[in-house]
Amino acid sequence: MNKEGHVLNAVLLSIGLGYVFHPSGDVPTFRAIAEISVPVVLGALFPDVDTAFGKHRKTLHNLPVLAVIYAYPVFFDNLHFVWIGVATHYVLDVLGSKRGIALFYPYEKEYNLPFGVPVSSKWATGVTVAVTAVEIALVAVVVHFDLPIQDLSASVAGLI
Ligand SMILES: [Zn+2]
Repeated sequence: MNKEGHVLNAVLLSIGLGYVFHPSGDVPTFRAIAEISVPVVLGALFPDVDTAFGKHRKTLHNLPVLAVIYAYPVFFDNLHFVWIGVATHYVLDVLGSKRGIALFYPYEKEYNLPFGVPVSSKWATGVTVAVTAVEIALVAVVVHFDLPIQDLSASVAGLI
């Protein structure tokens, strides 16, 4: 996926998460959107830094990098929500392109799903919006149906 797609995904995801955690549509909703949108957009842009430093779709497109970013709020109380952007970048790269990502880098094998669409496809924006909708729906299910992982996701997200 290209940068426009990643930014679109991150912005829509931030708005959606704001409403999932604060459905009222008033000040708390907009505060949550403001709080998470910039970190999520920055996180969504971060993996493609490996186009200039390292190997693209490998060096910064893997689970160890996501784990490090995810650990920052836990250990250092900073970089909150950035991991959400990094994670959604990976999802979009797997689904919104024909090439995979090296999830277990430095093991170089790139993982992909057989039904990704090319970045240049006229369907790319539609796939981006659809992927975002599914992501928001999954979080909404976890939050509103009180699934056991809610406590984990809520404490990490710091939103409720
Ligand atoms: Zn990428």
